[in-house]
Order: sequence, then structure tokens, then C-alpha cells
Amino acid sequence: MNASPANFRFALPETSVVFGAGARRCIAQEMEHGGFARALIVSGPVQGDLAVEIAGLLGPLAAGIYTGAAMHTPISATLEAIQRLLETRADCIVAIGGGSAIGLAKAVTYRTDIPQIAIPTTYAGSEATPILGQTINGEKATLKDRRVQPRRIIYDPELLVSLPANQSVTSGLNAMAHAVEALYARDRTPLSTLLAEAGLKAFAHALPRVVADPDDLSARTETLYGAWLCGTVLGQVGMALHHKLCHVLGGTFNLPHAETHAVILPHATAFNTGTSRDFLQPVGALFGGKSPADGIWTFARALGAPRSLRDLGLREQDLERAADLSVANAYWNPREVTRDEIRTLLGAAWRGDEPGEF
Ligand code: NAD
Repeated sequence: MNASPANFRFALPETSVVFGAGARRCIAQEMEHGGFARALIVSGPVQGDLAVEIAGLLGPLAAGIYTGAAMHTPISATLEAIQRLLETRADCIVAIGGGSAIGLAKAVTYRTDIPQIAIPTTYAGSEATPILGQTINGEKATLKDRRVQPRRIIYDPELLVSLPANQSVTSGLNAMAHAVEALYARDRTPLSTLLAEAGLKAFAHALPRVVADPDDLSARTETLYGAWLCGTVLGQVGMALHHKLCHVLGGTFNLPHAETHAVILPHATAFNTGTSRDFLQPVGALFGGKSPADGIWTFARALGAPRSLRDLGLREQDLERAADLSVANAYWNPREVTRDEIRTLLGAAWRGDEPGEF
């Protein structure tokens, strides 16, 4: 049922990965291996102390720090960071933080060709993809360009310990959503399916342990490993309805990224199960339940994930426009998407209903 080993297209990205507790201390070595001499370190405001720690580890290789990264990569922050890059004459960017810091670094690379080293501190997975989402004139647009993918990634599970349990759950579900949609992706390959299954398995096994004890370094290691796998498949294959809905809700209604993924995933999975039941079999095997959607729903409930778009701040009167936008320029999806059904799905997600059958 999965992609035929006799018929697929696959390219390996040119990325070098260092993984392990304390791996951030290799940052100077990574700079040398990359042939870089001066780093601009970028982060969000909350991660300012970490940016300073990285600058300390880099010593003379640190050229400056910019801490203005923000969700959905606003162009204003990108232009400020480029200004800082020019002032410091840096020849690489070190991004430390979640998808927002890494998105900023990608947006800078897109405009300057200066390469990056990414040090992720959430499970979002942006570091492993050639995808750049950015907000220009209030509209979020996404592009794919191999040039923006970080050349080197440092995965250090110690950096995840400070991510609160509730954010770990939503960020974990964000990563899992990449894997779920990779299972039924039109351009899936045998390898993307293996990666997706292994990524889901890591979260199924270790995310409950993170919630029980956010300081549990072995659970952080396993979940971060899962995040790498899920991010890698996000970079390899096309995403479908779930990601389209989240891009509309985040981009137009400014809903928080990871939380929106957490609410939508069981509903989008329910929508696609009819046409993709066999592909979603690993989800059922890992999460149990009456259906793959029910398995994810029950898993998310047990970990205290948010359940409704209403709780995330979406107004009921926004549902019609959200439905319109979700079917405009729709992404490829394994099942035909109709406006009425999407309105029903969004209504259920807004109220926080259990995922229904489609
Ligand atoms: P984020 O980077 O905005 O981080 C969320 C919050 O968590 C921030 O306040 C941040 O400071 C804080 N935080 C991050 N790591 C922490 C840690 N270890 N301890 C304590 N606090 C921490 O959110 P995100 O969900 O990682 O990323 C969302 C952004 O990334 C969105 O703009 C989304 O579009 C983008 N994204 C892009 C891709 C891609 O492939 N292009 C993939 C996933 C996400």
C-alpha cells in the first residue's frame, strides 16, 4: 500500500546534523566545518539568554546578536536582521529558537544567500525543510527554495527542557501532523513513509513522558529525534488539507501555530481516513482508538492539548471566511475537498467536538 520501491523520485538534502545532549557546545566546530568565520546569532526575545550563551561559546567567531524574531516571519524583522548582518559583516547566521527564529534566518538567507546553522528549541521542524513562510503586507505566503534550507543543524535535547509541558504537547502535535500527512502524500517514497512512522512512534512513546516530567532528558532526546524525522519528511513530500487549514487559520486569523495544528489534526485525519485508511494504518497501530483520528484525539486529550479553535481566539463569524479561503488555491489532498464539508469540519473544530465521520 505504501510507495512502491520501483517507482519514486527522491533527493537527499545537503544538510549535516549533529545530535545529542550538550551538542550546542560543538557550535564553534560546526562553524569551522562549514568554513564560516563570523556569525550573526538570531533568536526571539525570549531566547535572548541562549543567544548570549551561543555567542560566549563562539568567542571571536560571534559577530553580533539580533533577538527580534517573531511568529510568521514579519518582513520588518527580516529587514532589521539584514541591516544587522550588513553592519557585522557576518558570513553565516546561527539561528537558535523555534520555527520563528529559524524562519527569520531563512528569510535572511533568501535575500542575501548567507547560509545558516540552525539550533532548534521546539519540535516544529522548520530547520529540516526548504520551506519559508513569511508575512508581507499582512499576508502570509509560503515558498519552497533549496537555498533557504539550513546547511547544518545542531539538535541538543537539553535546550528542550525549558519548553513548558503544554507547549511541548502542541509543538509535538505540530511535528506529528507533518508525519501523518506524509503517510498519504502523493509524492511519498518508501523512505518518507519509514521516517514518518518512526517519527510518530517517537512521539507516541516519549511525549507522555515529557508531560509527566519536562526535565526527563531521555524523553526530550526521543521526542527531539522524532521532530527531526517529522521535519525531514515535511521537507521531502507535499502536505495536504491539514496544513492548508492551519496556514489559513494562522496566516489570516493569526491563530497560534502549534496550538492550531493540535486542534485541527484529529479532524483533518478523520476527513482523509475514508480514502487513506491503509496509509494511516501506522497511526492506528501506534495510537489505538476506533479510528486513526480517534487515536490522535484521545492521545491529545490525555496530554491536555487545546481542543477548540474557539479557545484559541477564532470568532464564530470567521468560520465562513475560513472555509472560503481553505478551498481557494487548495493543496492537493487524497480526498476531494468541498466547501460544505470543510465548513462542517471547521465548525466541529471550533466547538471542540470529537472528530466526526466524513
Ligand atoms: P516559536 O518559534 O514562535 O516559539 C513559540 C514560543 O516558545 C516563543 O515564545 C519562544 O520564545 C518559546 N520557546 C521556543 N523554544 C523554547 C524553549 N526551549 N523553552 C522555552 N520557550 C521556548 O514557535 P514554533 O511553533 O516553534 O514555530 C512556529 C513558526 O515556525 C511559525 O511561523 C511557522 O509558520 C513556522 N514553521 C515553519 C516551518 C517550515 O518548514 N517553514 C515548519 C514549522 C513551523
